[in-house]
Amino acid sequence: DADMALYRAKASGRNSLRFFDPVMQLEINRRSQLERKLRDAISLHQLELYVQPQISSDHQYVGMEALLRWHDPVEGFISPADFIPVAEASGLIIPLGDWVLRKACQILAEWSKVSGMENLTLSVNISPRQFRHLQFIDYIDSCLKELEVNPNHLELEITESLLIEDIDQTIERMNALRQRGLRFSLDDFGTGYASLSYLKLLPLNKLKIDQSFVRDVLIDVNDEAIVSTIIALGQSLDLAVIAEGVETHEQAALLENFGCHVYQGYYFGKPAPVAEWQKIISEIRAVHK
Ligand code: C2E
Ligand code: MG
Ligand code: MG
Ligand code: MG
Repeated sequence: DADMALYRAKASGRNSLRFFDPVMQLEINRRSQLERKLRDAISLHQLELYVQPQISSDHQYVGMEALLRWHDPVEGFISPADFIPVAEASGLIIPLGDWVLRKACQILAEWSKVSGMENLTLSVNISPRQFRHLQFIDYIDSCLKELEVNPNHLELEITESLLIEDIDQTIERMNALRQRGLRFSLDDFGTGYASLSYLKLLPLNKLKIDQSFVRDVLIDVNDEAIVSTIIALGQSLDLAVIAEGVETHEQAALLENFGCHVYQGYYFGKPAPVAEWQKIISEIRAVHK
């Protein structure tokens, strides 16, 4: 087999046979290189936080999602879908996640003084390893206090992967944060392995329909069934529902028909620097005055 070179390795004095997979080795090299670059990027402040609006069916901006952007001077744009797993595996997600949380609180502190922005929630993605970190709650407390942020405006997006282990600790931590006024949404809902019975145990505020179901909702009857079921589930569990990845008016109209009234996606606006969205929103307000 051309891809699989069988070779003999003398490891710790014993003869052992190993399969060497060059493709896997390439992936390992790529990851460790990315890890080194990410470590540098964090200390050189090469990462930026973009925001993408969340809009209600009555055309109000209700919130924004904070999304990391990494522009490498040599390689160009590197996707969070590539570097977040590396950050999670290496532990870099702790300093990175702390930076995102502090930045998010700075943004909220600024919005509280800007007409038209003062009621927006800011959603922040939280990785499982970050959520489980011992200092997670203390860190949030110190950011909120230092920057004088209303905790009601900070929403944490968690995923079903958080529910795979230590569900009791997850619920306990969520409750502690809910008591402070923070909100929780379950991101990428429907793509994980969590049992539906967890949904009623978790102190959630919102379900976020994964974009993979929204993409073909108009042409795939299975996706249509999944989307309408998630919306009905949200209604019966008294959870807000938001659809992500909405790219067309027709998708939004169908979602609205099914009873989903908040959307996020390219049709309503792409992720962009905070200043850009702030400008757009204040211009809209000026027109409506
Ligand atoms: P996510 O939290 O599910 O974020 C939604 C993703 O969908 C974002 O990708 C966003 O840019 C993209 N998106 C929004 N609207 C549309 C649309 O209409 N069509 C399509 N095709 N895509 C749309 P992005 O920014 O590349 O982020 C990918 C993932 O990386 C996020 O998925 C999230 O899981 C993770 N991520 C991003 N920022 C952070 C962060 O600060 N911390 C952590 N832990 N994870 C992050
Ligand atoms: Mg998200
Ligand atoms: Mg998502
Ligand atoms: Mg996603």
